[in-house]
Amino acid sequence: MNILSVASEVYPLVKTGGLADVVGALPAALVPHGIRTRTLVPGYPAVLHKLKKKKKVGGFGNLFGHPATVLSAELDGLDLLVLDQPALYARDGGPYLDPTGRDYPDNFRRFAALSLAAAEIAGDNIVPDWKPDLVHVHDWQTALTPVYMHFGSASNMPTVLTIHNIAFQGQFGASVFPELALPPEAFSMQFIEYYGDVGFLKGGLQTATAITTVSPSYAQEILTPEFGMGLEGLLASRVTRLTGIVNGIDADGWDPETDPHIVEHYGPATTKRRAANRKALEERFGLTSTAGPIFCVISRLTWQKGMDLLAEVTDDIVALGGKLVVLGSGDAALEGALLAAASRHRGHIGMVTGYDEPLSHLMQAGADAIIIPSRFEPCGLTQLYGLRYGCVPIVARTGGLTDTIIDANEAALSAKVATGFQFRPVTADGLRLAIRRAFRAYSEPKVWARMQNQGMKSDVSWAKSAERYASLYSGLLAKG
Ligand code: ADP
Repeated sequence: MNILSVASEVYPLVKTGGLADVVGALPAALVPHGIRTRTLVPGYPAVLHKLKKKKKVGGFGNLFGHPATVLSAELDGLDLLVLDQPALYARDGGPYLDPTGRDYPDNFRRFAALSLAAAEIAGDNIVPDWKPDLVHVHDWQTALTPVYMHFGSASNMPTVLTIHNIAFQGQFGASVFPELALPPEAFSMQFIEYYGDVGFLKGGLQTATAITTVSPSYAQEILTPEFGMGLEGLLASRVTRLTGIVNGIDADGWDPETDPHIVEHYGPATTKRRAANRKALEERFGLTSTAGPIFCVISRLTWQKGMDLLAEVTDDIVALGGKLVVLGSGDAALEGALLAAASRHRGHIGMVTGYDEPLSHLMQAGADAIIIPSRFEPCGLTQLYGLRYGCVPIVARTGGLTDTIIDANEAALSAKVATGFQFRPVTADGLRLAIRRAFRAYSEPKVWARMQNQGMKSDVSWAKSAERYASLYSGLLAKG
């Protein structure tokens, strides 16, 4: 089976969040199922620069006003197709934002072009000698692909649209419609018209053969007004097409027994060796060395991630005898609040702003617990890394956090299956209570060690989830 996967980011070439991790890791996990994936991504400068050996395999005479080339390249086992169209993608800045942090004004065109290119690769002879059996697209940036396919020559090919975060919908004014090269009937309820605007994700959700999201709980939640962000009605009408499949992690890149970013390697039987990583963490964040637990946070600093709630409990963590280390960047007010806490509690709270992949590994290896107070969380990856590294997750009970962490309630503790702490409601008081529970468990070394061990033994690899994607794909192809 051949799959064309289409995405606006892919690890390790370009990443702003979990989407890139999924798109980068799933292809390898599908290989044992006889599934070969080619991944189409835009030719951002970072992508073109990092791919040394590229070969031209096709092109478009005119894609949104300019010629475009399709390049093929391999990287770490990924079979990539790169849409090279400098007018759209050769920019200073990130994949979506200019260097001042603003959306590029032509994002609708940049990602419509990616979607149209994908549809034509699927249906026309753009890449000679290669055709997918199915097209799998991710988030709003590629959600027009099934719409273009519907009106193009691949209208019978099955499509899967995965929602990584329904908060990002790709909604643009109706004035962009004439530029999208779609027939007039596409600007309707059945396709991309969305409250008088153009909705990329909305159009994809209407048109894709199957819809997935990244955890079973989030699949349920997005059917409700609280989490559906306006799309709950549409999703309810397509609920038989909707499933939730939890993400796995890159188990080679995130392995405490071999991780090059940590000071001392360890495994489930040797968690005592985490002490050296803890020491390194204390030094890195300027913490005074004491016996209490070290909590860590690795996150975008946003309201979604509940970082305002974290800011409200910093004093409590210190008062209870704990430490906190934070790595993140984002909202300036939240960053300010956390930096203020760090300067109020020098030696007890440390903060590094920015994005630092190696440090994020050391934090999972050296801290005792990771706090994830998200208001909504489609899947979440940091709790999965936490499980694998014996960094016990304290999580809001929402979305993928619900599905991947077993709360340390009485029953789970006595059955010895607990792997973390869940809390609801997602408020500062809710979080405070969970942190108190963690302190209590931490004060009983046996209980804590068992939880760590249980987490480290959990299967957070892609194996099970890849099996689910494989059976979804086969089911769609069998229906023909
Ligand atoms: P989201 O995609 O919503 O940001 P996820 O938990 O699914 O949240 O994925 C976040 C990914 O980004 C994880 O791999 C996490 O380790 C990483 N990450 C987030 N912030 C930082 C940071 N400041 N430095 C390094 N890695 C980070």
